[in-house]
Amino acid sequence: MAESIKGLHHITAVSGPPQENFNFYRNKLGLRFIKKTINFDDPFTYHLYYGNHHAEPGSAITFFPWQHVVDGQPNKGEATAVQYAVPGGSLEYWQKRFKKKGIETGEIYTRFGFEHLPLTDNDGMKIEIVADADVNDKETVGYGGVDDKHAIRGFFGTTLSLPDIGRTGELLTEMGWKSEGNEHGLSRYSSEPDSRLGRYVDLKAEPNLNGRFGRGSIHHIAFRVPDDKAQAEWSEKIRKMGFQVTPVKNRDYFRSIYFREAGGVLFEIATDIPGFDVDEPFEQLGESLKLPSWYEKHRDEIEARLPKLKTD
Ligand code: ZN
Repeated sequence: MAESIKGLHHITAVSGPPQENFNFYRNKLGLRFIKKTINFDDPFTYHLYYGNHHAEPGSAITFFPWQHVVDGQPNKGEATAVQYAVPGGSLEYWQKRFKKKGIETGEIYTRFGFEHLPLTDNDGMKIEIVADADVNDKETVGYGGVDDKHAIRGFFGTTLSLPDIGRTGELLTEMGWKSEGNEHGLSRYSSEPDSRLGRYVDLKAEPNLNGRFGRGSIHHIAFRVPDDKAQAEWSEKIRKMGFQVTPVKNRDYFRSIYFREAGGVLFEIATDIPGFDVDEPFEQLGESLKLPSWYEKHRDEIEARLPKLKTD
């Protein structure tokens, strides 16, 4: 039997212009810029990755900055919020920091016993900073002037907006996640990740949420498996459950399979291996444009057509 799926691996969204995206995630949220590459299916669009200092699975948010895209509005069948874990007692620091940076935040509120500080990113995507004492002793480095002590450790979880939550809940249970009950119209599922990161998924029934996909929308969420063997077992298992699973795609930093779950959200299962330091040293992550080998011969043209992005 396949081992349970342990937490989120990455979350991928659509952003507006790349420089503004960088300024928000690296300079304001203080994440490390861990990879500058391209959309493997659309080489004149960047694919930008931000994570914790260690570039761990469970911390990576990735963006396709599409220059000309309509503004997105939250829609059912999508992940509609990203939650980041910071150490317990850090929310006051973040409130002050956001105020100083001119970023509006909502009121702090409690959900399943955790304090959340809600805000939106520069493209309108919902983010929540969550005080999570379980990550207190997990070390990282804050970028963009963020104090290491209060820096984002990685994902806390995500919220899925769904026409109804039943079948998605069943799938998460099959994936080895546990129901944590219901609160405020949310049904929470938890996993037991090795890293403590990305271990909650909240399901919200929102049958009347009719938005549209665009800038600020989350394209898919990826779950973690350690390696190709575990991924192959899950591919088989999910196929047997009646889902259409794609063949394995090589994303250079991980290998992926995708399927659309019953509520409409695109799920990916990604391997922890080989990791983000497979094509550049750990110390230099994000410093140069990385291309998959088959695009190397077009590097000059790709570099000329990509928008300028200042990352130092
Ligand atoms: Zn992905």
